[in-house]
Amino acid sequence: MVFAQPVGGSRGERIFASTNLAHEGADPAANSTGTAISGELRELIQCHECGLLQRNPPLPAGCAARCGRCGATLHRSIPNSLDRTLALTCAGIVLFVVANSFPFLSFQFQGQTTEATLFTGVEELYRQGMWALSLAVFFTSILAPGLQLGLLLIVLVPLRMNRCGRGLSRLFRYVATLTPWGMMDVFMLGILVSVVKLADMSTIVPGTSLFAFAGLIFVLAAAQAALDKDIVWSRMPVPARVRRPPQSGEPVCSCRVCELVMPESKADPAPGRPSCPRCGAGLHRRKPESLQRTWALVIAAIVCYLPANLLPIMTVTSLGKTQSDTILSGVIFLFNHGLWSLALVVFVASVLVPLMKLVILVYLLVSVQMRSPRRPRDRTRLYRLTEAVGRWSMVDIYVVTILVALVRLGNLATIEAGPGAVFFAAVVIITLFAAAAFDPRLIWDHRSRAHDGACLGGVLN
Ligand SMILES: [Zn+2]
Ligand SMILES: [Zn+2]
Repeated sequence: MVFAQPVGGSRGERIFASTNLAHEGADPAANSTGTAISGELRELIQCHECGLLQRNPPLPAGCAARCGRCGATLHRSIPNSLDRTLALTCAGIVLFVVANSFPFLSFQFQGQTTEATLFTGVEELYRQGMWALSLAVFFTSILAPGLQLGLLLIVLVPLRMNRCGRGLSRLFRYVATLTPWGMMDVFMLGILVSVVKLADMSTIVPGTSLFAFAGLIFVLAAAQAALDKDIVWSRMPVPARVRRPPQSGEPVCSCRVCELVMPESKADPAPGRPSCPRCGAGLHRRKPESLQRTWALVIAAIVCYLPANLLPIMTVTSLGKTQSDTILSGVIFLFNHGLWSLALVVFVASVLVPLMKLVILVYLLVSVQMRSPRRPRDRTRLYRLTEAVGRWSMVDIYVVTILVALVRLGNLATIEAGPGAVFFAAVVIITLFAAAAFDPRLIWDHRSRAHDGACLGGVLN
């Protein structure tokens, strides 16, 4: 890890220099399109968490550069990134097809057997009238990872052949948008919890696709770790008007998706809604109406949090007896069966994490509105934490989906999703949107005004 070094600055916008960026393959500036950006412009980067404009010159392979002000990772240089990501993406697509084509678990009870594929749970939830829940599970466990793999393949193959059209940059933007929504690893934890819950009453047999599914999780994680986004973006064409480095004292703005830094006057000649000339994402100095939108989403999540924990998330019918389970009763079930470590994981993921996210977001919103200059670096760390852990709360929703898919033997044994599951999924998804709506650069604004002058977009020195 390399910390950027300050090399100069005025009006408080210090510019930091880090070390060498190892570009793989041919220099993009000399590729067939002839429209990639110049080296000097490519080195400029605006930290997406504190807004500081810095220089990010080449890094040695395997090194990472961090923002000198807030500690965010600015760039990680990964050797052979394109080749490795492409190979892992191809392997991932094969595993994805296998994982979705065969049953991943069989449930045997009183001489009867049911089998479940990844899609069975989605179908069963829809049949039970839980279409919103069914849609959320379908999107996060099947559609988002599948699209992510497909789009990566479409982008990386021509890039590897040194060909890239304007459409590719938009497709790669969608990969960035979809990445946080692919939750196959959380789904795998859901399978583990479900198997433990059912082990008492029945026999559970793993199917072919369970192994493909487990392999897919590792391959997807490895593909994400191998992907050097800067290499991909540096090969995407940029219109001539923004290809010149900003002049001294000129205001600059940057794209939150592809991180292209450009002179503000050249960002978009047309009035109205400026968009990034490279990837097409909307250009804003700050996320629009960040505080209002985050407050609205946080309040909506708080409203859903109580019914999510009080109403049953599923109803179990076994040999004529019916029993309702809430999130907490599920945790107590695991604890009573001596599985305290799994009980702890589910308790932390389902009860503590959503509550912690809401408390942190309220604290950040209040501190920004009160213009607090206190410990901006620690508050940025808290924000990072909310972004990293939020998705694991989906585990209980996946447990319900898997149980509903497996246990459907009429009066003998049936599990149905309860209204608590809908509220709980709403809490998880709304808090994910709330964290995405909050702009962490607001934390640094008061500090910037007090010490650095008002530099919303950044001014090149
Ligand atoms: Zn920063
Ligand atoms: Zn962009």
